[in-house]
Amino acid sequence: MGEALVLVPHPDDESIGCGGLLRQLYEQTIPTTVVLVSDGSGGGTLPEGTDHKREKEFRRAMALLHPDAKLVFWRLPDGQLENSPELLPRLERLLAHCTAKTVVCPWREDLHPDHAAIAWGLEQSLAFTSVEQVLYYEIWTPLVANRILEVSEHWSTKKQALSCHVTALECGDYVRAMEGLATYRSLFTQSMARAGHYAEAYRSEAVQSQRYVQPLWHRLLCRLSRYGAKQN
Ligand SMILES: [Zn+2]
Repeated sequence: MGEALVLVPHPDDESIGCGGLLRQLYEQTIPTTVVLVSDGSGGGTLPEGTDHKREKEFRRAMALLHPDAKLVFWRLPDGQLENSPELLPRLERLLAHCTAKTVVCPWREDLHPDHAAIAWGLEQSLAFTSVEQVLYYEIWTPLVANRILEVSEHWSTKKQALSCHVTALECGDYVRAMEGLATYRSLFTQSMARAGHYAEAYRSEAVQSQRYVQPLWHRLLCRLSRYGAKQN
């Protein structure tokens, strides 16, 4: 991977979904840009000032995962990305000037509407770019993986990074959830899920001329799941 662009919906998704990969990119000195898309404000469900607090938490987590990454903050409204008139133009502009061949992005069938909105927006914007590969990661919804990354050696850093997200952890035990998912994913490594082994799962897709369009069933499921998916 020569250069990477990473799209992150909310503060904490980077640690849960691709924290091990970010750490690996850092150790391999791969130039990386990380775009935090939403403001992390909780969409009106969290106290005023939460956006600033969570941005600081994100910076702390990124300092552990990839201290050299260039951080970009779009601060689009949390919980409203699928309706944001700014999301698509920003993605198009970003991709038009993007020199990275790989984009790391939430899985398009993630049932959190914000996560999915970024993936579907990316799909539509790929016509404007020279990106060759999209590497989807899982946060809220497990994906059909075709790449497994062993992250055992980065596990303590990944866990420490997630622990920076104090605001999110007040809302749910994401550490436990992340540990469960990463343990399960390690079943697909040589460790066969033995104690102390963890992995992240990805779906790699080559960028082709054919674009996907978000199906209605997924849009409806996203709306149904919105209730339980405020923070992550
Ligand atoms: Zn999220």
